[in-house]
Amino acid sequence: MGSLNIENVKKAFGSVDVLKGIDLEVRDGEFVVFVGPSGCGKSTLLRVIAGLEDASSGNIIIDGQKVDAVPPAERGIAMVFQTYALYPHLNVRNNMSLGLKQIKTPADEITRRVKAASGMLSLEPYLERRPAELSGGQRQRVAIGRAVVREPKLFLFDEPLSNLDAALRVNTRLEIAQLHRRLSATMIYVTHDQVEAMTLADRIVVLNGGRIEQVGAPMELYNSPTNLFVAGFIGSPK
Ligand code: ADP
Ligand code: MG
Repeated sequence: MGSLNIENVKKAFGSVDVLKGIDLEVRDGEFVVFVGPSGCGKSTLLRVIAGLEDASSGNIIIDGQKVDAVPPAERGIAMVFQTYALYPHLNVRNNMSLGLKQIKTPADEITRRVKAASGMLSLEPYLERRPAELSGGQRQRVAIGRAVVREPKLFLFDEPLSNLDAALRVNTRLEIAQLHRRLSATMIYVTHDQVEAMTLADRIVVLNGGRIEQVGAPMELYNSPTNLFVAGFIGSPK
């Protein structure tokens, strides 16, 4: 479970139209990457999908239910941000556990999930450390682990690798790809990095100015961009 239906979603902030009618169906288990220039509405669209922000009109439907009809804790959505957003005073184990404690998950279940997630993300040696004692790559793995322990059906990643250096970006990207294979979750991933988009995506969605320019498999966009904008973003070098 984890299918997503975005139906004619519009979002305005005051008089500024940021999303101008987005339609997209994402199938259960799919890895979809959003690319597009800064300010085109990628983060806003993720926040609307998560129900953190209300759409001005249109619907977000997850497994047949409107997102805002379901209480946040029951939506089965976890978001990972560029800035990690870890609690500095909590160690890795507690950063990963906190959300589960808040929804009254039994202690032995929390232990089981933290163990599984820290194994998948090579975090076992760091469970007792605080974020300040970790590298940037380790911090981002904790943030991903915190999402994984919630066992969401839908992961939303907002430029999760942007603060990492090149080598760590490759490593963390491979870990995310591996997670996608191991968990049967749907993933939506925002990036402005063409290599990330090409290597991770089942389908790439190219956004521009609050609209979708083109949707397709990576090689489809690469070989047959429908316009110059898409070609400039993802297409073969001219
Ligand atoms: P992206 O993630 O593609 O860079 P965003 O979704 O963050 O773009 O922003 C799209 C546009 O919406 C930008 O012009 C931004 O200034 C505007 N915007 C985003 N959030 C808000 C907000 N809370 N209030 C007003 N304007 C916003
Ligand atoms: Mg953004």
